[in-house]
Amino acid sequence: MQGEMEDKCGIVGIHCKDDSKDVAPLVYYCLYALQHRGQESAGIATFNHEKGLEHYCGMGLITSVFGDDEIKNLEGNMSIGHVRYSTTGQSKIENSQPFVIDFGDGFIAMAHNGDIVNSDELKRELIDEGFYFKSDSDSEVICYMLKKEHYDNGKDVADAIEEVCKKLVGSYALTILIDGELYGVRDPMGIKPLAVAKRDDEFILASETVAFDVINAEYVRDIVPGEVIYFENDEINSHMLESAGKCKLSHCMFEYVYFARPDSTIDGINVYKTRMNIGAQLRKLYPIDADVVIPVPDSSIPAAIGYSRASGIPYGEGLIKNRYVGRTFIMPTQEERELAVRLKLNPIKEAIKGKKIILIDDSIVRGTTSKQLLDLVKEAEPAEIHFLVGCPPVIAPCYYGVAMATKKELIAANYSTEEICKQLGIDSLGYITIPALVEAIGMPKENLCLGCINEEYPTEIPEGLEAETYYKP
Ligand code: AMP
Repeated sequence: MQGEMEDKCGIVGIHCKDDSKDVAPLVYYCLYALQHRGQESAGIATFNHEKGLEHYCGMGLITSVFGDDEIKNLEGNMSIGHVRYSTTGQSKIENSQPFVIDFGDGFIAMAHNGDIVNSDELKRELIDEGFYFKSDSDSEVICYMLKKEHYDNGKDVADAIEEVCKKLVGSYALTILIDGELYGVRDPMGIKPLAVAKRDDEFILASETVAFDVINAEYVRDIVPGEVIYFENDEINSHMLESAGKCKLSHCMFEYVYFARPDSTIDGINVYKTRMNIGAQLRKLYPIDADVVIPVPDSSIPAAIGYSRASGIPYGEGLIKNRYVGRTFIMPTQEERELAVRLKLNPIKEAIKGKKIILIDDSIVRGTTSKQLLDLVKEAEPAEIHFLVGCPPVIAPCYYGVAMATKKELIAANYSTEEICKQLGIDSLGYITIPALVEAIGMPKENLCLGCINEEYPTEIPEGLEAETYYKP
């Protein structure tokens, strides 16, 4: 069975009590701040009681999808937005979000970050009941489940969401426009982040707090795992799902390691601080004698600073990243692929030559990036290379929305650390351990999802469900 389309992304929702205001520009800026969570497609849906629903999506970065005209046409005081992450083989406009179903008597627009592992089964049930699907998206399944409970069975929205969530297995942070109101939902395990902020007349929901900072909104709180929130009478109203507090919390550790921006705070834990702690933990585990600590930019900079501070070994830049290389195209030949790597990262020979270097990266997934990277670094002729990694060996796929890779592609699932070190041709290789990572994050281990590093998943995984691989230019 092919895994359903996964939705790993950034989501936003804005509710403004003044219905003469258009909030699409604010959603646009929030999505801009969440661009790191997805570069493949972007979309915004807006609603106003008089004008109804508007919706626009496109492929590519937020700035290339939306110009002044597109934003102007999106009128309404309520809006949701989405940026979608790129995976191999799924790059098509039908998979862009927000997902909208419009059926005459009403509509539902939804932005989803996460992955529903039993969506095949849920979809089959709906098809048997006569529902018709036009995409392979999990979000369409959730939308029709909601339509059935709310519009067909007449449940009020919170009860309809309750009914739907009872059946969903997997991860989901959702922003939903339904019945002219905005709802935010976070799965009872809290796998994906979602927080709420306030600004003037608006309430803002977003995957990461960095989105609040850019529009000068004041963070209020994270959505509690298993909570449904909506906005009425200028207040945050809350409905707790029956399952809330009854299942194991499973916050995704990879948000802290790689995915989120360092200037975001998720569930009370600042990402930058966590990455600095990762560096300090790496120092405890690997007290190497070296001349300089170099990060692989950008995600490993805080960890390299953390290692440097803990060890007293100077921090130094040794690789420069071209910030303008975004998603390009798949390079057909080896020569072009090498060129693409050099275009993206270039070593500073003067900073590396003849030195014993500690190079820090956030994670090794398939190992292809590290191999290319280290080949470049070696050309700059360091005396020694010690490669330290801020994520324990990734030995299993993620089924909850971080497209890692399939097991056969995961280098640490197939080779030992010694073997990988040999393949990379370096002096030493050291991964952070699971206990050290847990300490760096500062959350009890039982509250984290560590599925990709210990193969203990917080839900059942249907047999044959295939994991996806991310696409990297
Ligand atoms: P590789 O080992 O070739 O798969 O590349 C690993 C590098 O890609 C890591 O150091 C991260 O910077 C980045 N990375 C890790 N996981 C992901 C992901 N799910 N999507 C995009 N990039 C990722």
